[in-house]
Amino acid sequence: MPYSSEFRCFNGCDGSWPVTRPIYRCPKCNGLLQVVHDIEALKDRSGPAWMKLFDDRYRHNQWPYGSGVWGKREWVMPQLPDDLIVSMYEGGTNLFWAERYGREVGLSDLWVKLCGNSHSGSFKDLGMTVLVSVVRQAIQEGLKVKAIACASTGDTSASLAAFGAAAGLPVVVLLPRNKVSTAQLVQPVAHGALVLGLDTDFDGCMEIVQQLAAEGLVYLANSMNPLRLEGQKTVGIEIVQQFDWQVPDWIILPSGNLGNASAMYAGFKMMRELGIISRYPRLVVAQAENANPMYRAWTAGKREVTPMAAKPTQASAIQIGNPVSAPRAMVALEEMNGIVEQASEQELCEAAARADRTGMYACPHTAVALAVLEKLVNRGVIPKNEKVVCVSTANGLKFTEFKVGYHEGAIAGVKSTLRNPPIMLAPKYGDVIDAIATRFG
Ligand SMILES: *Cc1c(COP(=O)(O)O)cnc(C)c1O
Ligand SMILES: [Zn+2]
Repeated sequence: MPYSSEFRCFNGCDGSWPVTRPIYRCPKCNGLLQVVHDIEALKDRSGPAWMKLFDDRYRHNQWPYGSGVWGKREWVMPQLPDDLIVSMYEGGTNLFWAERYGREVGLSDLWVKLCGNSHSGSFKDLGMTVLVSVVRQAIQEGLKVKAIACASTGDTSASLAAFGAAAGLPVVVLLPRNKVSTAQLVQPVAHGALVLGLDTDFDGCMEIVQQLAAEGLVYLANSMNPLRLEGQKTVGIEIVQQFDWQVPDWIILPSGNLGNASAMYAGFKMMRELGIISRYPRLVVAQAENANPMYRAWTAGKREVTPMAAKPTQASAIQIGNPVSAPRAMVALEEMNGIVEQASEQELCEAAARADRTGMYACPHTAVALAVLEKLVNRGVIPKNEKVVCVSTANGLKFTEFKVGYHEGAIAGVKSTLRNPPIMLAPKYGDVIDAIATRFG
């Protein structure tokens, strides 16, 4: 294939390194790395020719192109041979018109991109398929590590464990004890990963796994590793593709470590450089108020994010105080005329309940995006006739404790105004009739 990609320093130091090299920071300045593609080579196809190629492959079962990620492989990881790809048909998730919820919020053109309808139940699969595939290539070229490892707030570990198991590679996950849902904890357990629960938060787990990786014991699968972002950037491309290659006006993304926000921009930038689109949507980074370092920096007009201790939030996957990809996300926000907004626990819980009442089943992170959407519409920042996409990052079914807690009215500090507890009855016909009459008249 005439296309290629390599690691380069995000801060612009000289030098480039193969994507199979187990490095996670610039060897010169210790800054973040990025994957850089040979854009000139990719210009051998016109924008319309790329669109046709991607459409021809979309959701077909010709290995590996049916995957939303590998259907765009020339833009993702062009040198990777077919037989090393570890894919479980990730991507290709539905983007649906949230008509009723949109109307309630005051929008006529609201769409929800259900990235949680994926193999392990979150968008993390998009990045993990790329990372695990490249690790396989690196191992074939002689890389020696004991395992692939990550720190996780729950979804990264579930995804890594699944793709690692599919490839037959050993996986270690470091989780903050009692801070992930039961479903998220049991996923890597079921896939046979070594699951370590540490008495700390995500940031504490991250410090330890970085040390393991620096000493060469493990290969690091966190989104500090830019390979993840190459897969995740396809979500922006896929959204545009699903709108017949039209660009929406807004994309709202619940964010913690800020890798996904950075990936979103990377996908849009590539589409613009390669003649598919001519403008960007506006990017909204949505944070939980209890874990809002990017919100604080952005509203204070600072380009540097000051790490904080993140407080507990129902949106546990974004309970992150020291976001690794903050410098990347800062560029994404600047280039995409972005906004950072936050949602309180009360706001996110109620937004999830309102959305669920219209047929969605919002995970708490998606709820942060929805709560932020409601605020921005009410404030007139998002005009009522514009096309808005809310990215739903995980499947609500992974967050049963959150739903149960809300409907039991048991989430501390939160008033459940839309509680709908089940009614327990004796098995008597009359009691059932009464219950129906009480509710519906
Ligand atoms: C990982 C994750 C996020 C945050 O993505 P970042 O790239 O860390 O900003 C949001 N929602 C869910 C469900 C996640 O698993
Ligand atoms: Zn550097």
